[in-house]
Order: sequence, then C-alpha cells, then structure tokens
Amino acid sequence: MFENLSERLSGVFDRLTKQGALSEDDVKTALREVRVALLEADVSLPVARDFVKAVQDQATGQAVTKSITPGQQVVKIVHDALINVLKGEGEPGALKVDNPPAPILMVGLQGGGKTTTTAKLAKRLTEKDGKRVLMASLDVNRPAAMEQLAILGNQIGVDTLPIVKGEDPVAIAKRAKTQAGLGGYDVYMLDTAGRLSIDEELMQQVEAVRDVATPRETLLVVDGLTGQDAVHTAENFDERIGISGVVLTRMDGDGRGGAALSMRAVTGKPIKFVGLGEKMDALETFEPERIAGRILG
Ligand code: GDP
Repeated sequence: MFENLSERLSGVFDRLTKQGALSEDDVKTALREVRVALLEADVSLPVARDFVKAVQDQATGQAVTKSITPGQQVVKIVHDALINVLKGEGEPGALKVDNPPAPILMVGLQGGGKTTTTAKLAKRLTEKDGKRVLMASLDVNRPAAMEQLAILGNQIGVDTLPIVKGEDPVAIAKRAKTQAGLGGYDVYMLDTAGRLSIDEELMQQVEAVRDVATPRETLLVVDGLTGQDAVHTAENFDERIGISGVVLTRMDGDGRGGAALSMRAVTGKPIKFVGLGEKMDALETFEPERIAGRILG
C-alpha cells in the first residue's frame, strides 16, 4: 500500500527539467509527496504541514550535487530534518537515577503496556546499569495488575513491594519510598493505575502520588500504534502531571512511526525507549534514525 517515498520522489523529479539547483517549484512538487507520506505514516496534519514548510525553506535554492539525483537530495534533506525533530536534547535512554533511592513514576492508560514496560525497564536498570530496583504496583482497583507485576518481578529477579490489601495508592507510594530507603535500593519504580481513557479521578490520583514521591523521572507509556490518540494522551499527561519522557510500545507492530514525530513536535518531550515485543528483553533505546527510515519507507 505504501509506495517507497524515495521512488516516488525520483518519479517526480524525472518529470522535471534538470537544473543546477533545486527550484522552488521542484521542491514544492516533491514536498507534496513528502506530506502525503507523512500523513500515511500517521503524522498529524499540523505537524506535517509545519515540517514540510521548514524543509521547503531549507531546500529551495540548494545546489544539486552531481553524485545524487535531485530526488535523492530532497529525501536526504527530509531525512536529516526528521532526525532533528526526533532527536531532542540529551542522550536517548538516559535516566536520572543518581541519588538513591531514585523514584521513577510510570504513567499511562490501561493497556498501553505500562506494567510490562515497568518490568522491562527494571530489568534493564538491574542488568545494564547494575542498579538495585524495587517495583511497586499502585493499581489498587485491579488486583490482577498488581499480581502481574509481582509475577514479572519473579521472572526477572527484581523485587516487588509486598501487596497489602486495602491500602490506597498514596500509602503504597510512601511505603515503597520507606522500603527503598531501608532496603538500600538505588531505584524504586511506581507503576500507577491506568484507565481506559483519561478521567479526572485518575489524574488526581496520579498527582497525589507524584506529590509524595517527587519522582526523578516520570515516564509516560503509550501504545505507538494508536497514532494521534497517543499524542493526545501525552499532551494531557504532560499538562497535568508533567512528564520527563515517553516510552512508545508496540513498535514491533506495523505502525509507520508517525506518532513518534508528532509526539516530539507537539510535546517537546524526549522519547526515551521503544517497546518491541512482549518479552522482557524487548525494550530498546529510542533511535531517531530507525524511525526516520520507517517514516520515509
Ligand atoms: P498496562 O495496562 O498499561 O499495564 O499494559 P500491560 O503492560 O499489561 O500490557 C498490555 C499488553 O500489551 C500485554 O499483553 C503486553 O504483553 C503487551 N505489550 C506491552 N508492550 C508491548 C510491546 O512493546 N509490543 C507488543 N507486541 N506487545 C506489548
């Protein structure tokens, strides 16, 4: 269904007269194709529009190098511009976890992959960074979710805070903090409750937890296949809770990565990790190059 953008652009340029520099018309024609490709990759319209405009200003008048075709040249300009938007500042995958015990707050909607990602990240912090990690589930309305975290903890050899029936999320967060301090943990991760959609009660609960935990990182976990919904979720959580980064899950699926671009452009928050499957090792540092390649096809 998706024709490769490079091929598309070559086709466009084959129809244009060869010139020594990229003319405004050449660039405009090419960028129409780029805009369609971005929209097909599920980039939101305003983001695609702004992006194309920025590239247009940059590309117009650029000398065409002999070694590549004008089509290839525009693809390169677009590729570099994508990387620029996607990259953001700081090192991807870096987390502020000095000053133990460092709290990490995991937030997001139900089904986005929050519990799975909490465990994946705990495993990574343990194995790659040599941290001692304690995980706690605050999802008091879903006992199965609390047990799920304990099961995953067992599986990966990471401790979870024992479940105490009847405790509210703020009390659990306080207990996790105390336990992390007493137990000599470097990091404690709070897996907050999710809802099917954003509601006031959920936000108030997460705010209350944030206020007692004062997290070093607040990571929003969102399903990368949900495109624009993921971006709205991120905007909402960032406004209310203040997030420090995003984890995009289900990037092993056939989504085209447009959500990542919109996410960066709209929220300005770094995408730190991507989830690439259900297994505990299926978490990777976000790589702008890979997503850019996927968007360009
Ligand atoms: P939560 O409700 O946000 O805590 O979501 P869960 O962590 O329970 O995940 C919901 C489902 O998505 C589970 O079946 C996970 O195995 C699956 N899942 C989570 N992350 C990924 C991912 O990156 N790729 C794929 N394919 N599945 C994932």
